[in-house]
Amino acid sequence: MRRKLLIGNWKMNGSLELARQMAARLMPMVRPEVALWLCPSALHATGLAQLAADSGLGWGMQDISAQPDGARTGEHSVRMAGELGARCAIVGHSERRAYHGETDQLVADKARACLEGGLLPVVCLGERMEERAAGQTDAVLARQLAPVLASVPSEDWYRLVIAYEPVWAIGSGQAAGSAEIAAAHAGIRRLIDQAAPGLGDKVSVLYGGSLCAGNAAAVFSTPGVDGGLAGGASLRPGEFADIYQLALQYLGEQ
Ligand code: PEP
Repeated sequence: MRRKLLIGNWKMNGSLELARQMAARLMPMVRPEVALWLCPSALHATGLAQLAADSGLGWGMQDISAQPDGARTGEHSVRMAGELGARCAIVGHSERRAYHGETDQLVADKARACLEGGLLPVVCLGERMEERAAGQTDAVLARQLAPVLASVPSEDWYRLVIAYEPVWAIGSGQAAGSAEIAAAHAGIRRLIDQAAPGLGDKVSVLYGGSLCAGNAAAVFSTPGVDGGLAGGASLRPGEFADIYQLALQYLGEQ
């Protein structure tokens, strides 16, 4: 059975006070059927880790180095994150690709480093609006996914978490529609199946891009969706709790 998850990406937002509010609100409602993980800044993650210790509420990194250690000023390794209890690391977020020049191969290297070190990589893929308009969505997803599948041994693919995040939907208030999400998720699974028949159905695929309480029911009931990656809504405790409740309702029984 595929893993079901709701992940919140705070980006360069949040505070220790928000971590306190989130922990108080979310810890009592976590159920094992759907994992609930927050990815604050690495600084706030240590505070959240203490607040949420021994609870079902997990945390992860917004990014991670592909290198094990050494001269990489400002970066964090898989080992460091694991030592403090991180469950996952987001890799290949479109903001890292756009503002930090991350290549498809670097994203793949980060995913492999995560798996080798015991962290789940949440690999973000997604097309820009002009690419969608030009009918290139499938080609972009294929280009971004190919190095990941080439770098990670196929026996580990079931541990990959893919987040389909159309760039035009991120932070725009304009989430993708169910048909667009279903087609992209099916396309991602097809690509995996083409590389190793039968594995497409084993990989968890999340949707991200303006996920909110108002559209979460539609997103989570879309075929092929195993959960969500939320940005803005994960900074609002009440709304994020409502989204998690919907994830439990629509995904918890599958
Ligand atoms: C994101 O940054 O991964 C994201 C999905 O952001 P938002 O929910 O704000 O669109």
